[in-house]
Parts: sequence; structure tokens; C-alpha cells
Amino acid sequence: MTDGIPSMIERIEIRVVEMPVRLKRTFSSGSYDTGPAGQILGKPVFVRIFADGVIGNGQIRPISPGHFVADTVHSVVAAIREVYGPLLIGRKLSDLEATDELLTSRLASNPAARAVLDVAIYDALGKARGVPIHALIGGCSQAEIPLEWSVSLADDIETMIAEARRAVEEYGVKVLCLKAAGKGGWRRDVANFEAVRRAVGDDIVIGVDPNTGWTVAETVSAIAGFRPFNLGYLEQPVLRRDVHGMAEIRAKADGVPVMADESLFTIQDAAELAAARAVDVFCIKLYKVGGLSPARKIAAIAEANGIQLNCGGLAVASQFEAAASAHFCATVPAKRTFGAAEFIFGVGPMGADPLVADGAMSIHDGAVTVPMEPGLGLTLDEKALERMTLQMSVVEA
Ligand SMILES: [Mg+2]
Repeated sequence: MTDGIPSMIERIEIRVVEMPVRLKRTFSSGSYDTGPAGQILGKPVFVRIFADGVIGNGQIRPISPGHFVADTVHSVVAAIREVYGPLLIGRKLSDLEATDELLTSRLASNPAARAVLDVAIYDALGKARGVPIHALIGGCSQAEIPLEWSVSLADDIETMIAEARRAVEEYGVKVLCLKAAGKGGWRRDVANFEAVRRAVGDDIVIGVDPNTGWTVAETVSAIAGFRPFNLGYLEQPVLRRDVHGMAEIRAKADGVPVMADESLFTIQDAAELAAARAVDVFCIKLYKVGGLSPARKIAAIAEANGIQLNCGGLAVASQFEAAASAHFCATVPAKRTFGAAEFIFGVGPMGADPLVADGAMSIHDGAVTVPMEPGLGLTLDEKALERMTLQMSVVEA
């Protein structure tokens, strides 16, 4: 140990853990399903990194199949167990850039696997230094993080209205995102939007996320259709690689902010979108960009180009996944953020997270307070972790 920083990673535990609840949701390009109890596919990966007496924890739910981020629980476990884990053993926790270079050179992409390792390393570093993660990556610009609720597509509008009402009335949420581009075409999306707007009133920001389900022409028509009902923002209307289409839509959006989600995985994607003047907002999800370190780099590109940041990722039933996002959000000054953070499903509506013994975040008036204890700020219930582990691999020297 040097200067209180643990010098060497000795052991990595990779666990697939059970979820306390099952969640199914629908969006235009896929379906979100955490799977039945006992099934490995769809479950989160919990990583513990042991270094010189400190243990860093991280949890990410790889969300494929059925999602545009391709990582599955099996690919994440294999990437860490077979490639990243053995490379990390014996390395210094704090050598973040050199480690990033090494891991990328041996196995590119795999952002969910990289993210869970990155978060666990930061949790260990924070605990070693006695400071919360946000203090390691830029400090606290905002301690209160407002939350957004993403409303699933449904066959009947009453289901969508009920979900939107629950978010606003039960949790005090002030930003909703309606999934769009379902079976009925954009006109149905406009009708859904109008119904939800009437149900929740004019003070709620409502955005729309077609998850790449529209063409440029449909998007331009839809924006005109939404105009009387005050569209708060438009997230990723067209295909991931259609940067020029996004730029064209932004030019015709008449002041409605356009957000990139599927288009933005890497710092190179961020640079390309910025150069094309394609979007007003970047949606950052830790499992999509590879963790806190790349998220901070993308934040720098955003700052330099006048692009705001939105923090996405549902973090279903996971305080650990939500806390990592909260620490990132806390580092970004409010005027550089857009909308509200999406990790609300990790901090209440799915019930308590059994893996947390102490430090769990809770929602007050549509927001949470970022944890101030060292690392992620959460105390793991080790007995619960043992009980909920479906599968475990260990990498050590
Ligand atoms: Mg999205």
C-alpha cells in the first residue's frame, strides 16, 4: 500500500445474482425481461474486487437479449473470467488509464463487463481513501439528483396512463419519457402522448423515445403532431448509425431538444455526433459506455460542444447500479445536465434491494441524494449475497 492506496488486485469474484422481482417492459426495438427466478439469462452480474484488504463492489444487469446493447450475462461473465480478470490480477487499482489501454487491446467493446469492473475498482479506491466515488471523479456539483420515469409501451393507453400517474403521484417525478414507435405508427404515439399529457398536466416534462423506430420523414411529421402538447425532448428517433439523419431532424425540430442514446456508445461516437451538430443531449448509460471513466471523457466532449448530458439506465432493483449512476450525475453541474436520471427503478418502485445492509437511497419528491459514505456508499449484506448467488466464478493469482 502506498499513500493509503491499495497497490494490487488479488482476487475477483464474479457472481450472477437472483433478482427480488421480475420486470417486463416493451419498447419499439425489443423487450426488457429480467427472466424467471433461477434463470441465469437476464440476471445481474455482481463483481467483488479484493485489493490489499479493501473490497470494491459493482453490479450491472447486462440487458440483452432484446436490447441494443449486445452484452448478455454469459458474455459479461466470460469476458471477465477469461480475459479481463486475469489481466487485472497483480495490477494497481489506481492505474486506470493503463488498465483501460490493456483491457481494450486484449478484448475490445464489451461495455457492460468493463462498466462493472470500473465501478468495482472505483468503489475500492473510494473505500481506500475514505471518500465517496464522486469525490474521485470531479466532486459534488449536485447532491440532489432528480429522477425520470420511463413509461413502457402498452397495447392500451390506460396502462400507460396508469404508469405515468404512478410516477407523478406516488414518487413526485417531474420528468416522464414515453416509449414510442409501437404498432400503431407515429399517429398512435401522438395520441398516447396527448392522453398522458392530459392525465398528468402541463407542469410535467414529457419526452418521447422511439428507440430508432421512425424514419426521418416520420419523425418530422411526429414532431409537428406533438407540438400542441409540448414535447419536452425527442430521444433517438432513427437508426444508430444515421448521424446525418439525426442532424437533419435536429435542424427541423423547431427547438425540441434531440437526444442520442443508441448512437452513443464510445468517446469516438460522441466526437462524431458533436462534429455533425446532430444532437442537443447525450444519453450516458454506464453499461453502454463502459463505466465511470469513459462517462467522464464523454462529459468533456459534451462540455466542449455545448451538449447537455442525460443519465440513462433503469438499474432495475439494484441500489449498486443506481448508486454508480448517482455518483456520476453528482459530478455534472446542473446546467450541463438535461432532463432527469433514469435509475429510479433501482431506488424504490421495485422494492428494497436485499443486497444492501445500509446506505440505501430513497426517493423524496422525485429525487435522491447521492451517497456521501466512502466508495459507492452502500454496505453490502454479505449473507444476502451468498443466498442470492446463482453462479460464481473466481479469478485469483
Ligand atoms: Mg433510450
